[in-house]
Amino acid sequence: MFIDDTIAAIATAPGEGGIGIIRISGPEACDIAEEIFVSMSGKKIKEYPARTLIYGYIADGEKRIDEVLVAFMKGPNSYTAEDVIEINCHGGFLSVKKILELVFKKGARPAEAGEFTKRAFLNGRIDLSQAEAVIDVINAKTDKAHEVAETQLEGSLSKKIRDFRDKVTELLAQVEVAIDYPEEDIEFIAYSTLEEKTAELLEEIKELYSTADSGKIFREGLKTVIVGKPNVGKSSLLNRILGENRAIVTDIPGTTRDVIEEFVNIRGIPLKIVDTAGIRETDDVVEKIGVEKSKASFDSADLVIMMADSSRELSDEDMEILEMIQGKEVIMLLNKIDLEQKLDEEVIKKYVNEDNIIKISALQNEGIDKIHDKIESMVYKGDIRSTSDVVITNTRHKDALYNAMKSAEDASSAIADRMPLDFVEVDLKNIWDYLGHINGDTVTEDLLDNIFHNFCIGK
Ligand code: GDP
Repeated sequence: MFIDDTIAAIATAPGEGGIGIIRISGPEACDIAEEIFVSMSGKKIKEYPARTLIYGYIADGEKRIDEVLVAFMKGPNSYTAEDVIEINCHGGFLSVKKILELVFKKGARPAEAGEFTKRAFLNGRIDLSQAEAVIDVINAKTDKAHEVAETQLEGSLSKKIRDFRDKVTELLAQVEVAIDYPEEDIEFIAYSTLEEKTAELLEEIKELYSTADSGKIFREGLKTVIVGKPNVGKSSLLNRILGENRAIVTDIPGTTRDVIEEFVNIRGIPLKIVDTAGIRETDDVVEKIGVEKSKASFDSADLVIMMADSSRELSDEDMEILEMIQGKEVIMLLNKIDLEQKLDEEVIKKYVNEDNIIKISALQNEGIDKIHDKIESMVYKGDIRSTSDVVITNTRHKDALYNAMKSAEDASSAIADRMPLDFVEVDLKNIWDYLGHINGDTVTEDLLDNIFHNFCIGK
């Protein structure tokens, strides 16, 4: 793809701030800036070494607009690998807007969402998985999620995918030689070495694939639903773990009417918590919406935290909820241990693994740490050894890797069955293609548009 136009956008967040940055990228970037920028030294931008901050002001003809610092990053040593100009002006809506309008007047066009990063990809500075990591870095909710995204941005996943593809290329070369020179010897050697090497590759792909379930949590959050009949203390707990009062806490049953979503950082794990109106049958219309929404979010939850009031005997409602959560990953909280205890734990143990039953007092802040310990061990039980490992966090990558894995399995069994090498060749090519979806070697224009649409303007 040949890019010949120049784009511009405000790169900083909207609203008032110390500085605002206008970013321009493309072949005309520097010429446009020269037209509107007057340096205090009287020199042109091009007379300075690249990446110098130059002090001056932006002017529309005679009219001075704002005092600025301008930097010129000459391509390919820039974010987009094109010529890039960044104008730092005073923060606030008007300065940035006026300067941007002036930049458009001089020939740049408004950048689309993610277009700067898309150009970095199209110009070959980063691959697609790195481009996608940019948005993950921006959206990261916890330190660990940020670290995982940074590792991907550095190119750790890219390198791994490149290694896999190099191996496939090597295998393909051997297959093609054997196809072109079909003497028995070559074919014999081909099958036995192929068998071993394909098995090796399959194992490596599987290993990477196995990180996806835990990895997804860093990117999307562990979707957690808190269930329990009204008044057991769900909102109180939520407020405890949020550290501030965001949900309504009340004595009146059914007043937590809407489903509230919040991100909470539990030891680096981003928990996407959905607070629910207590699950129960109701005729109240407003409340019913809350209850229905609760059930829907409950179905898609990664983790269910059920709460019961240990100062009361188990009721039918509690039992209904216990029935409903069968088969889900459940942490059972017995709340209000500061009061006299009436609940029969033995009944609970029939429904929930004993290790996952935790006694707490949301009111007196007791046992909350144990909840954190439990969540941590549930998430890490799996496959992430440390965040410096390459981890699959993105569902798109997971799907592509799954397909590559299936093709590798097909290749393996074709080789084991001594099928004609043409068949093996097809499977190997499929592996190569699917892996290419991850780093962007083999993707369609539509998919690219889709990915970059999720970015903000100016990134
Ligand atoms: P929800 O309806 O499940 O969200 O319950 P709330 O969080 O609104 O709590 C209902 C009532 O129980 C409130 O009066 C809370 O102060 C009280 N409560 C919550 N947790 C505890 C606890 O651990 N001990 C005691 N004694 N009361 C609690």
